[in-house]
Amino acid sequence: MWGDSLNAVATRFVIIGGGPAGNTAATHAARLGAEVTLIERDVIGGAAHLWDCIPSKTMIATGAAIAQSRKMEGMGLEQAAAEAEVDVDALTERIESIKTRLQRGTTNLLTSQGVNLVKGTARMLSPHDVEITTTDEQGNPNVYTVYADAVLLATGSRPRIPEWCRPDGERILTTRDCYPPKTFPESITVVGSGVTGVEFVHMFASFGAKVTLVVSRQQVLPSKDPEVAAVLEGNFLQRGVHLLKGARATSIEREVNEAGVEEVVVRCDDGRVVRSSHAVLAIGSVPNTNDLGLDAAGVELDRNGYVTIDRHCQSNVGHIYAAGDISGKLPLSSVASMQGRKVAEHVLGMQKMSHRHLDYDKAASAIFTEPEIADVGLAEGDAFAVGRKIRVTKVPFSSTPKALINNDWRGFVKIISDPATGVVLGGSIVGLHAAELISVIAIAVTANLKVTDIVESLLVHPALAEALAEAAE
Ligand SMILES: Cc1cc2nc3c(=O)[nH]c(=O)nc-3n(C[C@H](O)[C@H](O)[C@H](O)COP(=O)(O)OP(=O)(O)OC[C@H]3O[C@@H](n4cnc5c(N)ncnc54)[C@H](O)[C@@H]3O)c2cc1C
Repeated sequence: MWGDSLNAVATRFVIIGGGPAGNTAATHAARLGAEVTLIERDVIGGAAHLWDCIPSKTMIATGAAIAQSRKMEGMGLEQAAAEAEVDVDALTERIESIKTRLQRGTTNLLTSQGVNLVKGTARMLSPHDVEITTTDEQGNPNVYTVYADAVLLATGSRPRIPEWCRPDGERILTTRDCYPPKTFPESITVVGSGVTGVEFVHMFASFGAKVTLVVSRQQVLPSKDPEVAAVLEGNFLQRGVHLLKGARATSIEREVNEAGVEEVVVRCDDGRVVRSSHAVLAIGSVPNTNDLGLDAAGVELDRNGYVTIDRHCQSNVGHIYAAGDISGKLPLSSVASMQGRKVAEHVLGMQKMSHRHLDYDKAASAIFTEPEIADVGLAEGDAFAVGRKIRVTKVPFSSTPKALINNDWRGFVKIISDPATGVVLGGSIVGLHAAELISVIAIAVTANLKVTDIVESLLVHPALAEALAEAAE
């Protein structure tokens, strides 16, 4: 059986895709003694470094610096005469330098562990044969095949583009055209109100654009706690964001208006029309499973094109694994990395020793808006839906000294625990540094800690984390 015969000789482990799933699996498997080949057609670090997590959060951080510069009065300072203005070239350089630094760091880590890095495109020829196409300096292709004892498919996903819209990279944008866009939008319509959509609303609003958000339901972030979504909606309205609720976009086109000005026109199914200088699509992603030779390898996909996996990330073909966005689980870089790590352990037979299975329900996630939103584990609504008894404690940041010192006391900490045992089951945080603070609750949820473990921890004073201890009380 697969796994039993692997430890005697070095396992030839071939990984397709160098994003968080692929590069974490490669580093970990090489450390554990496998002979690892990692094939990446673009850059090590994947979409996460190139277009997703890193550039989006870099832009958001610059937007936050602009917001901070407007808040000087509340900090006992005189307001600066001139407002901070965006220097697009400097911003582009900043994003590129962060990406380069991270890519170099990840590449160095891989090579230091002895991973064989190949810049090329790979596809499966059979369950054990992987075809690699590289290009030499003159642009000539070189095609060869390697044998793999185990394969990891970690090719990620790309933005979903519906048939009613043709992005042009200039004014009709996908999320990949925004870091920064070729021309900065005066006004922008964001289509899609999930995590990516609301982050883009926040990002462009911070840079001074007039933003309209097309929300197909009656609540932004439809899958989140309504109380949390309400805080964000309130912030958007306060900042002048126009929320078009209950509307589905049906077309996005460039048009020249009567005054001869070029606009992007978004038409919705209920007849409403939004005009702006730009529009961005944030309606999810599709997996990169095409052209991967999965038929030849016998790998099954689900009806949405994702590789079906079991709890070890194995596909229906035991030695072919899938991790990251291609696996159709939570599309998060953090989850992709952890899946990669677990795959490496499974390939090397480590699950027979100590091995904690990945529990997707315990993944922490954050939304980098203003205020930040983060949650982990059981949600209040989900517990009520199944009639589960829970204890919910909520503390506003306004009662925390550090929030007053920071001149930002918006939001709250909510902890959900088991009333019988005190075990922490989940929580959500809205407010400054929520993405950092949620780690405390995430560790408690993963390690089955009790509320008393948080209460009795000697935390720093003054710190926002004191709200966590109070909520755990
Ligand atoms: C706008 C945006 C912001 C996001 N922000 C966050 C965030 O803040 N935090 C977070 O946790 N997640 C975030 N995500 C999600 C995160 O980016 C993804 O979940 C993560 O990148 C998935 O990692 P991956 O390894 O599966 O794939 P990827 O990072 O997509 O890497 C896949 C790699 O495979 C390569 N590849 C594809 N096909 C082949 C082939 N045939 N041969 C060789 N190489 C191939 C690609 O070039 C790519 O480099 C964000 C997503 C978006 C869209």
